[in-house]
Amino acid sequence: ELSEKLSLGNFEQLLSRSFPPCMRRLVEKQRETKKHLKHAGRLQLRPFLKACGFTFEDSCSWWRKELCRDPTLTSEKFEKSYLYDVEHAYGKKGHLQGQNCCGCPAIIASPGEAAGQVHGCFFKQLEPSALQQQLQRWQVPIATMLEIQRLIKEGKHYQLACIEYFKSQHPSSDGEGVGNSPMDFLRTSCRYHKA
Ligand code: SF4
Repeated sequence: ELSEKLSLGNFEQLLSRSFPPCMRRLVEKQRETKKHLKHAGRLQLRPFLKACGFTFEDSCSWWRKELCRDPTLTSEKFEKSYLYDVEHAYGKKGHLQGQNCCGCPAIIASPGEAAGQVHGCFFKQLEPSALQQQLQRWQVPIATMLEIQRLIKEGKHYQLACIEYFKSQHPSSDGEGVGNSPMDFLRTSCRYHKA
C-alpha cells in the first residue's frame, strides 16, 4: 500500500522527491525537448503513474497537457490517437485491464533507445558523460556519483546504482527494496517521508 497517492496537486513535489530516475527522466525530457514520448516511453510511464495513484481523470489531463507541449501534437490529435491508451489502461476501452508497471529487470532488459526515443533504465541508457551531467543537475553528491559510475563500469550493476542514488536522496536510509521495481522506489521514498 502507498502511504501517499500521486495526484495532480502533489505531482511536482513527488516528481523531484520520490520518483525513480527512470520515470523522472521521461517526464523531464518530454518537458525539456517539447517532443512527445514515443510508444515505449509512454508504455513505461503510463502504468507507473496509474499505480502511483493517478485517477483516470488525473491521467487524462496530465497526458493531454504533457504530450501537447509538443507543438506538433494538438488537442484534437491527442483525442484521436492518444486518449485511447489512457482509457485502455483504466479498463475503459478494450478487453484487458491495460498493462502493468514493469519491474526493474524487465526495464533493464528492454531494447535500447532508437533515435528520438526515451525509455528504459536511467542507469543503463545514459552514456557516462550524460549520466554525470544529469546526476549533477539533480544535485547528487560527488561521492555517490563516483560510486554509481564504478558500479556500472565494473559490473553493470544498475539496480545497485539505483540504491546508491536513493540513499543519497534519503539520508540514513539503507534503500531496502529499491532496485526491484520503480514502484518499490516510490513506495520506499513515500514511507521515508511519512516517518
Ligand atoms: Fe528505474 Fe529500476 Fe533502473 Fe532504478 S533500477 S532507474 S527504478 S529501472
